Amino acid sequence: MVLPESLKLDITSHHPSLLEAAEPNWYWGLNDTMIYTTRSGYEWLLGQKVQWDANESWLWLWRMNILEKVKGLIWLCLHNAIPTASFRSSRNLIIMDICPRCNEASETAEHCLRFCTKAQLIWKRLEVEMSRRNAFLEFRAWIRVNLRATKAIFAAGFWWIWRDRNNDIFNPNDSWSMKKVIMLARHSAAEYGIVKCTNQVSSHPSLIDSWCPPPLHVVKPNCDASLFEQQHLASFGCVLRNDFGKWLLSCSASIPTGSITWCELYAIWRGLCLAWDCGDNEIICETDCLEAYLLIIKDFAGMPRDYNDLLLKIAEMMQWN
Ligand SMILES: [Zn+2]
Repeated sequence: MVLPESLKLDITSHHPSLLEAAEPNWYWGLNDTMIYTTRSGYEWLLGQKVQWDANESWLWLWRMNILEKVKGLIWLCLHNAIPTASFRSSRNLIIMDICPRCNEASETAEHCLRFCTKAQLIWKRLEVEMSRRNAFLEFRAWIRVNLRATKAIFAAGFWWIWRDRNNDIFNPNDSWSMKKVIMLARHSAAEYGIVKCTNQVSSHPSLIDSWCPPPLHVVKPNCDASLFEQQHLASFGCVLRNDFGKWLLSCSASIPTGSITWCELYAIWRGLCLAWDCGDNEIICETDCLEAYLLIIKDFAGMPRDYNDLLLKIAEMMQWN
């Protein structure tokens, strides 16, 4: 809607009398000051167009200092829009809405993330408040209360419980141990804490949102490998950056083919060598291969022999100072 200039001038020069005894006049009745603001006008329009309730604002979530993907998941849960058994059953995609993990109740988002036996065990180990008082909170309030109390660990727990549930459904022969889920959640929470403590302003704009610099006086090699099994080709690449996000060194090369985990371990080892060659011994090494990471921290009980040589080299380097 375009208003004529004369009308605009009339509106902006109008100052309604706020005195009760003042003679009748026209004013903006949708906020306490009786003066029009863009915000109150926008909220009014939303109410007209989409029946939006200003008291139902989601700002408490969007302004939360947690990862965007967790905010998205919480929002979907609170809109009953994640593909739980209950959700799929209501759309006639499956017959039974029972939780496939505990077989004890309908698998709603709340059951899956909060009440399911498997979720409860994780929350307990993550020391998230599960008191009797909290038990009576409805789902949304329960999320808000816990996010306020234990922001990073609750957000990470929420995310990894959902991932664990999906892994149980889609990889039934390779389910994750509770220890692994707890470790992943704690690691995510700790990593997020480090990122938040680090000044990201000095990073190159192209790196913000996709890469986080290491803490002060620490360097970070990012390592990755690729494998084309059918062509018998494998290669790796590493890039080393400092706490300002500045590029220091990089390397890449073809390597003998092995399993993808072996190639990723090789990339990590070369990344550590790169950092060491640069004269730095405070290193945070980043990889996108969870299995390689778990092998390095010796979380896997049955360590494949093929990896021993590389794992020993990496373990040895981690001891250097
Ligand atoms: Zn369940």
